[in-house]
Amino acid sequence: MPPFSQPDFSMKRKLKVFKFGGASVQDAAGVKNVADILQTYKNDPLVIVVSAMGKTTNALERIVAAHAYHTGEAYLLLENVKQGHYAIMEELLGKNDPAYDDVNDHFVAIEWVLETEPHPNYDFMYDQIVSVGELVSTRIVAAYLNKSGLAAQWLDARDVIRTDDIYREGWVQWDETIENARRLAQPMLEKGGFVVTQGFIGSTKENFTTTLGREGSDYTAAIFSFCLEAESMTIWKDVPGVLTADPRIFENVAKLDRLSYREAIEMTYYGAKVIHPKTIKPLQNKSIPLFVKSFLNPEAEGTFIGPDVDDLYPPMVAVEKNQALLNIATRDFSFVAEHHMSFIFNKIAEYRLQVNLMQNTAISFAVCINNVDDRVHKFAQSIEKDFKVMIDNEGLELTTVRHYTPQTLEMLRQGKIILVEERTRNTVQMVMKVVPELKRKS
Ligand code: ADP
Ligand code: ASP
Ligand code: MG
Repeated sequence: MPPFSQPDFSMKRKLKVFKFGGASVQDAAGVKNVADILQTYKNDPLVIVVSAMGKTTNALERIVAAHAYHTGEAYLLLENVKQGHYAIMEELLGKNDPAYDDVNDHFVAIEWVLETEPHPNYDFMYDQIVSVGELVSTRIVAAYLNKSGLAAQWLDARDVIRTDDIYREGWVQWDETIENARRLAQPMLEKGGFVVTQGFIGSTKENFTTTLGREGSDYTAAIFSFCLEAESMTIWKDVPGVLTADPRIFENVAKLDRLSYREAIEMTYYGAKVIHPKTIKPLQNKSIPLFVKSFLNPEAEGTFIGPDVDDLYPPMVAVEKNQALLNIATRDFSFVAEHHMSFIFNKIAEYRLQVNLMQNTAISFAVCINNVDDRVHKFAQSIEKDFKVMIDNEGLELTTVRHYTPQTLEMLRQGKIILVEERTRNTVQMVMKVVPELKRKS
């Protein structure tokens, strides 16, 4: 493969942004490994974005549900999360470290929420509780880096990332965020030492905590990279780089050494879980290269993601599970015309649904949508006066193949019923129903 042309870096763009996800800091050994990796970058200006430890976000989600539905388990679940963190802290920091006070303060914020009646806005309450995962993980990581001789300053990402007030899926208000990043992070970097901050979280202009959507820490790192004009961004994963398909689903996957922003955004939008789909745009807009590297083998080269080149790619597969296929038909047999489309798409936007595929016939229209919470049903209800809506959401997956070959498609179809298929020169998309007794082969 020919090399990508590298962007022209000016001398001031020396900042690097690193992102360490939940898997990299799931236990004390993980945090020690992160500190070992960072020793190599001791003298570099570095913003380090860290996610919640291991599966903490899922655990916090269960606390939110327990409180909202009065199951009586919320305090017990919280206690488990606390004990898990204290055990890691003890191994890393001993019994007396100022970080305990900070971590306790964040957990107390959850207790306050639990002491009052569940907030009528579930998503608002969710963000107040779930954000604590990143707040405590960064307290612990920053304290351990300082203890290891790596100067680290803790930055509250909520003071930087300004979002709208759509809880659980805040949209970034860029002007304020850029201003905040420069005002707060720049002086910290100039002082020297690393800046450690949280992935996934932000705040509204009224200072209420928001989150950016599950798995949003990659996106946070891209936001910081954009605002501070980083030289490069690196996400450290438990895989060697971007692979041709998800290794949890397929065998015989291969690492891609280089990938264009275009390929990366196409694959991640349709479910390649290795990078959050919103990550690529801010990087592409400022020609900031993205490296995907393994925290288990930090010396290895990983994947480089950069500007487009004329290149040959092997077949690449992304699978998005949990899909809903909606068949939307006019009630009076009129053709599906532009004004219907515009009405339906306005509603889709209102419910913040992601359309992955669509197809229309004379009087009906099929859309494949990510089946999130009860939003698909709420959307269907909102248009049912004018349209008959049929929803199929049982065991549906969307498989997207870039640079397909007949053999790849044949392999993917095994054990599946294909409900909708669409094909362009580079891409095939198939909405499939999983037949459980037939196992997928690679
Ligand atoms: P993080 O710890 O940063 O949250 P994730 O678990 O979200 O990391 O993402 C890494 C996982 O993404 C890998 O373990 C792998 O199973 C999955 N994955 C899905 N598609 C791909 C792909 N195309 N290449 C590499 N990994 C992939
Ligand atoms: N902790 C959040 C999540 O698990 C964000 C992230 O890890 O990227 O979704
Ligand atoms: Mg993740």
